Amino acid sequence: MKPEISVVAPAYNEARSIHEFIAAVRRALGEEVAVEIIVVDDGSTDETAAEVRAIRELDPLVRLVRLSRNFGNQAAFLAGLRAARGRAVITMDCDLQNPPDELPRMVAAWRKGARVVQMVRRGNPDATLATRATSRMFEWVLRCLSGLPLVPGAGDFRLLDARAAEQVMRFSESRPFYRGMVSWLAIPTVYLEYEAHPRAAGHSGIGLHKRLRISLDAITALSIRPLRIALLLGLIAVTLSMAYLVVVLVAYFAGHSVAGYPTIIFTVVFLGAVQLICAGVLGEYIGRIHEQTRGIPPYVVAEADEEFDE
Ligand code: UDP
Ligand code: MG
Repeated sequence: MKPEISVVAPAYNEARSIHEFIAAVRRALGEEVAVEIIVVDDGSTDETAAEVRAIRELDPLVRLVRLSRNFGNQAAFLAGLRAARGRAVITMDCDLQNPPDELPRMVAAWRKGARVVQMVRRGNPDATLATRATSRMFEWVLRCLSGLPLVPGAGDFRLLDARAAEQVMRFSESRPFYRGMVSWLAIPTVYLEYEAHPRAAGHSGIGLHKRLRISLDAITALSIRPLRIALLLGLIAVTLSMAYLVVVLVAYFAGHSVAGYPTIIFTVVFLGAVQLICAGVLGEYIGRIHEQTRGIPPYVVAEADEEFDE
C-alpha cells in the first residue's frame, strides 16, 4: 500500500528525541492519513539508528535511511526525498522544534490544492535577542548575495507535492542547498506561520563551522552574483585609482608636492584586499566545479529498506 504522506526527518545524534518525534507525528496525523515516517540517520555516533530499528519492529511504516557518515542536514533531506513514496512529502527536523502539531494544517492546505506549503517561523524560544538579530542579518546577506527570494523565517519545514519533490530531485548538486532549490523553482507556495518550540533534548548539531559551510553553499549553489560583485569591486577600484591619478597629475602641474608614503600603503593594502577577496570567491566556485565534474555525490546511503535501496 502506498502512503499518502511521507514525513522526512534528518537525525544527527537524536537518540533522545526520536521516540517522542515519531509518536508526536503519529498522534498529529492520526489514523485517517496513511503516513510513512522516514528518518535519515546522518552518520550519528549515538544510538539513533538502533532506536529507529527498534521502533520499526513495531511500526512498519517507520523507515530508516542511514548515511555512511555525516553529510549535513541538507544532503540528508535529499536522501529522504529520494526514499519517499507518498503523494506529498513533508520535511522537518526531528528535535521537535518544528512542531508535529502543525502537520494537519499542512496536509489540509495540500488537499485544498497547494503544491508547496512553506512553514514560516514566528518565534524561536531557544534564541536570545542577539542570536535572533544576527540570524536576521544573516538571512538578509544571504538574500542579497544569492539573489534568491528567501522568505525570512522560512527554513526546511515544508510540504512538497510529489511533482515538486521530483523537480527538487532533478538538481544534481554535490553540495545541495535544499531551501534554495525550492525557492529557485518558484512553484506557487502557500505560507503558514508557526511558533517554534524549544529543542526536545540534546543540543544543536549544527555548529558555527557547519552553518558557515551551509551559507557558502547557499550563496554559490544557485547564483553567480558573488562573481559579478567581484568584477564590480575590480571596476570600482580601477575607477577610484584613475580618479586619484587625475588628482595627482593636476596637483603636480599646479606645483604642489603630493604626499607619497601613506597613499602607497593604503593603495597596496586596499588593492591586495580586493584581490584576495576576489580570488577567494573564484576559489569557492572552482571548488564547486571541481566536485561537480568529478561527480561527487551529495551523500552515500549505507543502509535502507530494500524497497528503495539505491
Ligand atoms: N542534522 C543532521 N545533520 C547534521 C546536523 C543536524 O541531519 O549534521 C539534523 C538534526 O538532527 C535536526 C535537524 O538536522 O533534525 C536540524 O539540526 P539542529 O536542530 O541541530 O539545528 P538548529 O535547529 O540548531 O538549526
Ligand atoms: Mg533544531
